[in-house]
Amino acid sequence: MRRILRIGIVTGAVLIVLVGAFYVFRTPLLLKALELAGAPPLEAQEAVVLGEEETWADDFYSVERLDAQTFAISEPRYFRDVYSYLVVGEEEALLIDSGSPLRDISPVLAKLTDKPVSVIATHLHFDHVGNHTRFAKVLMPDLSSLRARTYEGKFVPDALEHLGRVEGYAIPGWDVGGWWAVGAEFDLGGRSLTLLSTPGHTPDSISIWDKTTNRLFMGDYAGDGEIYAFLPNSSLGAYLETTERLLSDLPPQTLLFAAHGGADTKAAPSVGMQNLFDLRDGLRAMRDGRLAGAGFWPRAYPINRNTHVLADWTGPGGSSWDFD
Ligand SMILES: [Zn+2]
Repeated sequence: MRRILRIGIVTGAVLIVLVGAFYVFRTPLLLKALELAGAPPLEAQEAVVLGEEETWADDFYSVERLDAQTFAISEPRYFRDVYSYLVVGEEEALLIDSGSPLRDISPVLAKLTDKPVSVIATHLHFDHVGNHTRFAKVLMPDLSSLRARTYEGKFVPDALEHLGRVEGYAIPGWDVGGWWAVGAEFDLGGRSLTLLSTPGHTPDSISIWDKTTNRLFMGDYAGDGEIYAFLPNSSLGAYLETTERLLSDLPPQTLLFAAHGGADTKAAPSVGMQNLFDLRDGLRAMRDGRLAGAGFWPRAYPINRNTHVLADWTGPGGSSWDFD
């Protein structure tokens, strides 16, 4: 009897240690699992169905014209279905995100504009900075946290900011061609864009606001489908603060463009401001314990018919509602 009791205690202790180790190391374990699984192969071009407004630019990229001088450039054969946006003015053009490192985006840009193109990423994940080293002018948001890590004019993301190891990509560094202050306008010639700080998905995430057309290019901040708020640098508190601020600052008719394709949409992925109201209400309900999550990890919290917030566990070392 005593022997059975002893075995029970030892087994229990081992289980507690294993669960504790999983809890502490859940993020590196997830990243390792993704790395071992690898990315699925590219879909055959013939098998891809483009949206009505989308056309192939070559055998990899597709382009949708949002208006005469604004383009959504996507990678529909790649399972992450990345979208980058090109905004062209009378003097200059800006590429918002440079896409995955799989291919060279510059020949596509050359077909769309003859103006000099600068690039800025909405955040530092590998599928948004993949072509940065091909540009003469890489802009970065003027945030003290990023400036402090620039040496001799060069910025290199760290491994958890970049996350490219999950698909076998090395971390690139690039020369910073200019710092764009939060709230400042960049005049492309007859067309001005404003940089907004929109932390949540990552602490230094930004969005670019085109106020003349009422468009916000928001990277991975929100959208239809899954909102990734469980990654190493994500913060639920920052998500809520950003959402409340955007709701008070942006006009109600603003269209928000995401950087990954929606579940069933075959077009540049955009949502209206109602999605931000849903996100705000959902985050408040999560914070107050009024919204049940599903699944083990990350937990999925439904905020409307199409969209879940994927969040870390709450508790010590888990999802934080504090941020600075
Ligand atoms: Zn991202």
